[in-house]
Amino acid sequence: MSISAHSEKFAAPTLDTGKKPLIGLDREEICTAVEEAGLAKFRGKQIYHWIYQKGAKSFEEMANLGKADIQKLEDSFTIARPKIVTDQKSQDGTHKWLLSMADGQQIEAVFIPEEDRGALCVSSQVGCTLTCKFCHTGTQPLVRNLGSREILSQIMHTRDYLNEWPSSAPEKRLFTNIVMMGMGEPLYNYQNVAKALKIAMDGEGLSIGRRKITLSTSGVIPEIYKCGEELGVNLAISLHAVTNELRSQIMPINNKYPLEELLKACREYPAASASRKITFEYVMLKGVNDTMADARQLVRILRGIHAKVNLIPFNDWPDSGFECSDLSTIKNFAKVLEEAGFESPMRKPRGRDILAACGQLKSASKRAKKRVE
Ligand code: SAH
Ligand code: SF4
Repeated sequence: MSISAHSEKFAAPTLDTGKKPLIGLDREEICTAVEEAGLAKFRGKQIYHWIYQKGAKSFEEMANLGKADIQKLEDSFTIARPKIVTDQKSQDGTHKWLLSMADGQQIEAVFIPEEDRGALCVSSQVGCTLTCKFCHTGTQPLVRNLGSREILSQIMHTRDYLNEWPSSAPEKRLFTNIVMMGMGEPLYNYQNVAKALKIAMDGEGLSIGRRKITLSTSGVIPEIYKCGEELGVNLAISLHAVTNELRSQIMPINNKYPLEELLKACREYPAASASRKITFEYVMLKGVNDTMADARQLVRILRGIHAKVNLIPFNDWPDSGFECSDLSTIKNFAKVLEEAGFESPMRKPRGRDILAACGQLKSASKRAKKRVE
């Protein structure tokens, strides 16, 4: 494990208060903003392109703009990135960044490289208002939604770090996928997440296709429908239990949105198909949800859904009160699912040594105020 202050090479300027950030705005909003600052409206499209396609870090770089326009932009706007507080690399190559927001709040983004692809695990909130019993993020008392700028900044920082912007054409891209599986419940911050993902998916924007984006939710049913209609990204459901009784115990959101309705929303999810399955995440908790009867019940409730199951070994954290199921139990559980035709890979824990694995994210920020951007 290595911890280092972020090197100068990747240092981004911090937010200069008083200037309006352009990151986070969509094309129309950028056109309007630059017009108000005295530029021709069509310049907005070019600027959108510079920001999201080329990764410009300064207005000066925007070569098709005249000096006067660049000056106007510098006077009114900023495209500064958040400050990188720490930069930790795990033995297995997983990279975790702690990013500091303009108000001092801190969030984590985790990059998980694999042989032929790489996924960025993006946070949607500081902390989480939900209190799933097995999740460290849910124990963090301070919570606020991230704005679309802050969500996009995590993606843009990773593009900066890897020097992989859509306009450059490296031989092999390392950063191919986004998973909304970091801190927070993305569907409790739907507006900002949707806005950020639309820009991320835009071929003129950050150019990461909807098939390469997976949103994980604990099951906020009305927004699952919205997400299906408006975004069409891949869906992952944190299921973790096969009865309402147990699910409500370990995931209190189940009291509001019970299993049957959740599974109905999955059955009706428009972007799901035989080739684009819904992922059901199932954290393996020893003696809690890991019996063969649980596995058989899981098969029953998933019938009729284009589904695969991701078995997640429980990642421990101090005083969690849970233990991970034995490997042999996980294998037997998987066997039941596979025999019933459900692909059920065991998720390899990544970045455990830097507390970057699922459910371990929890920033140490103390200065936070409860605030929604
Ligand atoms: N809030 C969203 C997305 C973030 S959590 C959600 O709950 O889906 C990403 C995944 O990690 C979820 O499936 C979550 O249930 C799982 N998880 C949480 N705590 C965990 C832990 N301690 N060990 C393993 N997985 C965990
Ligand atoms: Fe929040 Fe997801 Fe953790 Fe539950 S599992 S507390 S919804 S981040």
